[in-house]
Amino acid sequence: MLNKVLLSTDVTLVCVQHALSTEKEEIMGLLIGEVHENGSLVSIVSSVILRRLDKKPDRVEISEEQLVQATLRAEELAAEVGRPLRVVGWYHSHPHITVWPSHVDLATQSMYQRMDASFVGIIFAAFLTDQSTKAPSIQITCFQSVTDGSTQSRREIEMEVVNNNDSLMTNNFEILTQLPAILKEEEDEAYQNEVGHSETDDIIIKQHNAAVRTIAIGHIVEKMSRPMLEALVARNALNAVRLKALKKQHQELMSRLENMSCNV
Ligand SMILES: [Zn+2]
Repeated sequence: MLNKVLLSTDVTLVCVQHALSTEKEEIMGLLIGEVHENGSLVSIVSSVILRRLDKKPDRVEISEEQLVQATLRAEELAAEVGRPLRVVGWYHSHPHITVWPSHVDLATQSMYQRMDASFVGIIFAAFLTDQSTKAPSIQITCFQSVTDGSTQSRREIEMEVVNNNDSLMTNNFEILTQLPAILKEEEDEAYQNEVGHSETDDIIIKQHNAAVRTIAIGHIVEKMSRPMLEALVARNALNAVRLKALKKQHQELMSRLENMSCNV
């Protein structure tokens, strides 16, 4: 039985950034990782951002095709790093609402669990306000579904955010930077659908649709691309400082080693 989930810091970053991308709809994605100890431990090392098929509130659906694509992606990554990676779970956001899974979430989770007993669900509740500090807060829960007769209830799974090892870091940063492009694609599609449906040549309607699309893209740049760029620049600067310190340490250790071999 699944007891614990290890979530890498980079995947957490990607999921939180994704969850914060929209206050109006739930977003979702799939989680890639490894199952250990006969299915009692799952480590999550990467993710796949899914485009929303249906932009309706409280509705998240994963198509067969998306699942197959994610499985192929997991196989590619597995070959790259030489570890048995596969799709181990799914995540979605709850903007402005409780972190706990809904009945629909539990039913969806239970369907996946029938195919894979260690499959896990993670929910990122975003745009919440901390009761005591009044500061913006995010809550995360990791769950499985327990079926008792015809009713399903949640079983919380212990989750630990761990520093990731390495080899998938570049891959996870690529996923992060793809996010604005995926959101833009969704907007373009919504615009195309709108243009395709309206049979009128009314210039006001055309202008309106174009303006809505422009505002949406401006929103992506302002709320996502710019903060992301700033965060990455800051991280880069921090890494440069760390690199310098490590190089210095390396030098010191090398000279100590030289002294030691001289004395021998
Ligand atoms: Zn939900």
